[in-house]
Amino acid sequence: MLGLPSINIVDIIDIALVAALVYYIYRLVKGTNIILIFWALIILLIIWRATDMLGMRLLGAILSSIVSVGLIALIVIFQPEIRRFLLFVGTKTQLDESFFKRIKFWKHNIQGNKQTVNYEAYINACMHMSQSKTGALIVFKRRNEVDDLVTTGERIDALASSPLIEALFFKNSPLHDGAVIARGNAILAARCILPVTSRLDIDPNLGLRHRSAIGVTEQLDVLSVIVSEETGAISYALGGEIHHDISLVELRQALEKYEC
Ligand code: ATP
Ligand code: MG
Repeated sequence: MLGLPSINIVDIIDIALVAALVYYIYRLVKGTNIILIFWALIILLIIWRATDMLGMRLLGAILSSIVSVGLIALIVIFQPEIRRFLLFVGTKTQLDESFFKRIKFWKHNIQGNKQTVNYEAYINACMHMSQSKTGALIVFKRRNEVDDLVTTGERIDALASSPLIEALFFKNSPLHDGAVIARGNAILAARCILPVTSRLDIDPNLGLRHRSAIGVTEQLDVLSVIVSEETGAISYALGGEIHHDISLVELRQALEKYEC
């Protein structure tokens, strides 16, 4: 009788964790030239395992030495990506913690203390800035901390209002350059510097404002909203993907769904 290998719960967890690891690595390198190296590595590992199983000792030994030296080389070459990956995993863990905080928050709301976010302030500001073609970049944080970003600019801690946001991005304002960081009804900081995405498959017409709006959502659990100075188009980025030239209704839906 053919004996099926016995699979226990640890094996299932093992497979699930490897699948999650491969998925996160794939998400991080998707759209960059690193994806080619990623595929080459996968193919190399499959061939290496195959030679091992088939007992091809010579090829197996050569591949094995390449893999062992290659590992150190990979750590050196991909140091920024590894850092980005660890940051990403850390942010996700914070998210899971926030799940419990969120349950508390819901309970709080049901008891009648609902803190509503004044989305109108942001939507009206974006509408006016779109009409006047004023360039703007607003990063919305949810639960996780983005103090790294806040410290790159000027701390504000003010109640969000449409005139305030428009004043911040007004061309002659000393704070108009860079990004505004917001959470709920609070404007936390202005003139912040965001990490720029290294993706190559982005519309070449999109410049640094859009690229940094995408970049920050690759690394942190944030949503960013962009108003183009060139076209007046409103866009938002989430999870490394940009939704270009959206309507005000779509902007509202995105902000409400994200629960900034
Ligand atoms: P637009 O459609 O408004 O022209 P764009 O995507 O073409 O946007 P640029 O024209 O390069 O982008 O916009 C430059 C502005 O983007 C800068 O003046 C600055 O305010 C902002 N910006 C550029 N890089 C960053 C960054 N790393 N972090 C935050 N803001 C940035
Ligand atoms: Mg431009």
